[in-house]
Amino acid sequence: MTQKSIMPLRRLPAGATRAPRVGFVSLGCPKALVDSERIITQLRAEGYDISPSYADSDLVVVNTCGFIDDAVAESLDAIGEALADNGKVIVTGCLGAKTGGDGGNLVASIHPKVLAVTGPHALEEVMGHVHHHLPKPHDPFTDLVPEAGVKLTPRHYAYLKISEGCNHRCAFCIIPSMRGDLVSRPIGEVMREAEALVNGGARELLVISQDTSAYGVDLKYRTDFVNGRPVRTRMVELARELGELGVWIRLHYVYPYPSVDEVIGLMAQGKVLPYLDVPFQHAHPRVLKAMKRPASGERNIERIRAWREACPDLTIRSTFIAGFPGETEAEFEYLLDFLREAELDRVGCFAYSPVDGASANELPGALPVEVREERRDRFMQVQAEISRRRIRRFVKRTIDVLIDEIHVADDGSLVQAVGRSAADAPEIDGRVIVRPHASLRVGEFSRVRITRADEHDLYGSVTR
Ligand code: SF4
Repeated sequence: MTQKSIMPLRRLPAGATRAPRVGFVSLGCPKALVDSERIITQLRAEGYDISPSYADSDLVVVNTCGFIDDAVAESLDAIGEALADNGKVIVTGCLGAKTGGDGGNLVASIHPKVLAVTGPHALEEVMGHVHHHLPKPHDPFTDLVPEAGVKLTPRHYAYLKISEGCNHRCAFCIIPSMRGDLVSRPIGEVMREAEALVNGGARELLVISQDTSAYGVDLKYRTDFVNGRPVRTRMVELARELGELGVWIRLHYVYPYPSVDEVIGLMAQGKVLPYLDVPFQHAHPRVLKAMKRPASGERNIERIRAWREACPDLTIRSTFIAGFPGETEAEFEYLLDFLREAELDRVGCFAYSPVDGASANELPGALPVEVREERRDRFMQVQAEISRRRIRRFVKRTIDVLIDEIHVADDGSLVQAVGRSAADAPEIDGRVIVRPHASLRVGEFSRVRITRADEHDLYGSVTR
C-alpha cells in the first residue's frame, strides 16, 4: 500500500514569520503508516508545518518500504524525486535499514546526497536530524495538535500499533533483520492511545503488529495499569479492554495459537469484530516447516471449524505463497484441498518472489517464474468461487455499515455511498455500495439491507 501525505498548511497569526515546512512522503504498510503519523504528530507539536509540495518545503522526509523489490524501487524513486525537486532529504523506514552490495547503507550508496538515513520506528532519530538541518521553531502551537495526534487515515478509523519487530525467522521474510525482535508496548500505553483515538472520532481501531498473538511475550505478560486497574499485557486482555470502548475492533496478523480461542469468545459476544486476519501462507506441513512458520504444527482445519462453531459469523482473511522453493505439485494440490475445506472468506496469494537477504534464497528447488505464476493463478481461481459463495451469506440480511465515502454528482445530488461491513478491512477487503439516502454520513454507521453480492462487494439500501 502506498500513501502520500497531503496535509493542509496551518494558518499563522498576523505578523508571525512563516513556520519551517516539512514535506512528507509515506510509503509502505500500515506499520510504516503509524511511524509516519508519529513523526508528523511530533513535527506539528513542535510547530513545523507539513507541506503538500516539494517546492514549498524546506526539507523532505521520505518514509520508505524495503520489503519486496517493487517497493524498494518505488522508495528509491521517491527519494530521487524529492532530491531533484527539493534537495534536502531525510530518509527513514525499512529501506533505510538495508545494506547494499558493498556492505554500506543501501540508500546512502545509491543517493549519496541525502542528509541522513534511519531505519524504521526511529522517531527520536528522525527528529534529531530534522532539528539539525531545519532548526525547531521557537513558538510551537502545540494546542493545534489533536489529542489523538495527526492521522494519515480518515478520522473515523485508525491503526493501533501494539508492538514492533518479530521473534520469528520465516525463511522468506527480512522484517526481523530490519525491525529487530519483538518489543511490545505496555497495555496501559496502548489503551491510552486507543482512548485518545476514540475521543478524536475513530469509530474503528485496527490492531496491527507483526504477530498480534505474541503481544506481551517479550514483557512476560507484565501487569500494567489501565485507568488505575491492573491488567496483563497480553492479546486476550487487550482485546477485552478494547472491546469496552464501544467502537469496531479489528484484529490483524493473528497466528493460530490456542490463545486465539479466547478471543473468538469475545467475538461471539459482539465485543470485538468477528474478523480474523490469519496469515497462513501455506497448508502443507513440510512446506510450512521449510518456511519456518510460527504455529506450523497447529491443526488449522480443526481450529477453523471450532472457531466457526463458536462464532458462526466469523470472517477469516489470509494470505498465501504459491511456488515456494521445493514446493511439489502434490504439495500445491494439498494447499488447494486445504483451501476448499477451509472456505476462507478473503484471501490473497503471492507467487513466491525472492527477497534480498532472505534465507529462503538458499533453499534448493527454486521453481521457474512461470510455474510460480501459474500456481498463483490456479489458487486464485479456486478461491474466487469460494469467496463468491461465502459473501452471498450476507444477501437479504440487514447489517451495520461504516460509511467511508459519499459520491456526489456535479449538481450536488447523491450518487452512492461506499462503506464497509464487519467483514471488510479498509484497503484490503471488499466494500458495501449503498444507494443514496439523506441519512448517510461519512464516518457514521448505517443499517443497510443487502440486496446482492459479487465476488468482493455487497450492494444494498439504508433501512432507516
Ligand atoms: S512472523 Fe514471519 S513473516 Fe511475519 S514478520 Fe515475523 S518473520 Fe516475517
